[in-house]
Amino acid sequence: MLSLPSDWLPSAPLEHLHLDWLTQANIHVVVLRLDLIDPLISGNKWFKLIEHLAVADLAGAQGIISLGGAHSNHLHALAAAGKRFGFPVVGLLRGHPQETPTVLDLQAFGMQLHWLGYGGYRARHEPGFWLPWRAQYPHLQPVPEGGGGLPGARGCAGLLAMARDQLGALGWNDYDGWWLAAGTGTTLAGLVLAEAGAHPVYGALAVPDDHGVARQVEAIIQEAGLCNPAYELFDGSRGGFAKVDPALLEFIRLTEQASSVPLEPLYTGKALMALKQQIEAGRFAPGARLIFVHTGGLQGRRGFAVADQH
Ligand SMILES: *Cc1c(COP(=O)(O)O)cnc(C)c1O
Repeated sequence: MLSLPSDWLPSAPLEHLHLDWLTQANIHVVVLRLDLIDPLISGNKWFKLIEHLAVADLAGAQGIISLGGAHSNHLHALAAAGKRFGFPVVGLLRGHPQETPTVLDLQAFGMQLHWLGYGGYRARHEPGFWLPWRAQYPHLQPVPEGGGGLPGARGCAGLLAMARDQLGALGWNDYDGWWLAAGTGTTLAGLVLAEAGAHPVYGALAVPDDHGVARQVEAIIQEAGLCNPAYELFDGSRGGFAKVDPALLEFIRLTEQASSVPLEPLYTGKALMALKQQIEAGRFAPGARLIFVHTGGLQGRRGFAVADQH
């Protein structure tokens, strides 16, 4: 009932990224443009949903119930998918009712919203949290915040083949690693699983170090039974999740001007800026070739001027 049309196979273009600081350091970067997979269903959140939808379908569910904030890229992708493919979606939101551009989209896509307040939202990891929601929506499958966990990671494993299929056309026969933004680390874990140690995956943390990302990545890797993971995490949060500073905004402006790749300040802008810092610190040898994953999230930038800092 929740099965997706077999002819909808989103694919992201892989493109060279030309920027002065990369040229000067003799580091080669190509970008996997997940922001371009679809006008509405953008970014890594779609790939994180694929396996959750398959699990829900197997369980006989008719739709999905999940949670997120008032700028959530996850809820946005989920609501857009529900509208596109005709399955019901319910969103449990953090905080009190507000009309951000994201929330207006969720409503326009037909997602049913419940606002949990801040305390109610913090209870989401408690054992009994889902019971009343399962009782109210017995035909919907709960999906964790952001589409995380092993199913979320498995859905992202397909990104490896998607990039590899396009490398030859760009004149690359191999590469030295991946670079991407990490929030929960689920997308990174998916690439780590797909690579199985063949190439390292570098994650620029969009959240402070104490958010337990390393632990979550380890948990996914262990659950999948992979013994030789190759990955490394760097702090890219610039003082906290959703903290935005003038140097970051200037970096994004200059990058967009020079490359025409649009970035947002919470994930992709910070991730590319963290890469620049690591290159300046000598982390990569001249000649290194990296695949940067543009994880999308551009819808959220409409609201970042009023982004809540929770
Ligand atoms: C959610 C998100 C991320 C983080 O993905 P994780 O799998 O949670 O690490 C990165 N970039 C964008 C644009 C996102 O929306």
